[in-house]
Amino acid sequence: MSLPNDLAAYWMPFTANRQFKAKPRLLVAAEGMHYTTHDGRRLIDGCAGLWCVNAGHARPEIVAAIRAQAGELDYAPPFQMGHPKAFELASRLAEIMPADLDHVFFTNSGSEAVDTALKIALAYHARRGDGGRRRLIGRARGYHGVGFGGISVGGISPNRKAFGGMLGEVDHLPHTHDLAHNAFTRGQPAWGAHFADALEDLVALHGAETIAAVIVEPMAGSTGVLVPPQGYLQKLRAICDKYGILLIFDEVITGFGRLGAASAAERFGVVPDIMTVAKGITNAAVPMGAAIVRKPIFETFMQGPDGIELFHGYTYSAHPLACAAGLAALDVYRTDALFARARALEDYWIESAFRLKGLPNVIDVRAIGLVAGIELSPRPGAPGARGYDALVQCYETGALVRVTGDIIALSPPLIISKQQIDQLVGTIADVLRQTSA
Ligand code: PLP
Repeated sequence: MSLPNDLAAYWMPFTANRQFKAKPRLLVAAEGMHYTTHDGRRLIDGCAGLWCVNAGHARPEIVAAIRAQAGELDYAPPFQMGHPKAFELASRLAEIMPADLDHVFFTNSGSEAVDTALKIALAYHARRGDGGRRRLIGRARGYHGVGFGGISVGGISPNRKAFGGMLGEVDHLPHTHDLAHNAFTRGQPAWGAHFADALEDLVALHGAETIAAVIVEPMAGSTGVLVPPQGYLQKLRAICDKYGILLIFDEVITGFGRLGAASAAERFGVVPDIMTVAKGITNAAVPMGAAIVRKPIFETFMQGPDGIELFHGYTYSAHPLACAAGLAALDVYRTDALFARARALEDYWIESAFRLKGLPNVIDVRAIGLVAGIELSPRPGAPGARGYDALVQCYETGALVRVTGDIIALSPPLIISKQQIDQLVGTIADVLRQTSA
């Protein structure tokens, strides 16, 4: 395949456009564990696309479902109308979510799922006559997409600072990343549950009666795989319960098997009031997201006079193609028992990742489920440069990895074999040796 002859018009997201266009990296095909590049090379997919192709690429069952749906019902308006697969997918999602997380509001992305969840939280309190609860609490190093709600509760400075005023009533918990105590931890660190106590401080500062919700990623992905310390999420849950604050888990990355269970909530045994999902919901074959709420929240909206209960929704909420892809993806996850597979591979995965310990510039390896973060020491005066070089070198050498700053984040499709794990980790090891400067 040849390159398009002009790369100019496409403004690429979260990309160094000029750097990229000077030396492009185009993906032209994908199947199973591999991408094909424009120059005909195969790359092993070390990050499931972007944490999303959990069942591997071009699954025939999902492809067939999308094709069939496009010919049968291409689109149905979601306002005051419905189509069967939207209801079916909502039921299927409710079935695999813990406890009474059993009502599903569909969106088209993780960012929309987050903004939907925040709006539901605020509207829920207002519906209950507790409308003073307007404050939203996020966390440092949190990533919740790019809507104004998501960047307001998010904790990544460059994602915020060019854009002026955020949502007004927002505060942040500290993140839990601490290499001095927890470097080179397999699974959840034993130290750090006390970081959740900062929520007590925010309650003391602002008053519980002003706080609507706390939103966290149960395992922060985009800022470099920050695994929650043991007991941390339980503590957050307990403090939220004590003060009537809703707890939102942003499971856009952790949903659908990444941690060896349908959700991180299940893996860690902590049930949030609202969960956001996207990415793996359709195996990324069609864009889709959702905010999933516990029964009492939904029931609260179903009180009072009949009429539209929530003035919110998208033209493409529960798009038929996305629903078809979602149902097929859930079938694949179930038929191939991929969540259990991820859990069964976890020990091998962690030990493999830890083979990178001791290589040049590696200051931490952390891993859980089928995720790993490899943190490199930044080059003096050039944060992110070493990470970027590693990304490019991996690409040249045959592996697609995700890099955030100087952290390599690995999250392969859950179909990865032990041999492919060896190959992926071996490629990264070679690259780290070569780019030791
Ligand atoms: N929330 C989390 C935890 C994410 O990791 C992401 C994307 O990586 C998002 C939200 C945003 O999702 P999207 O890019 O689909 O808007």
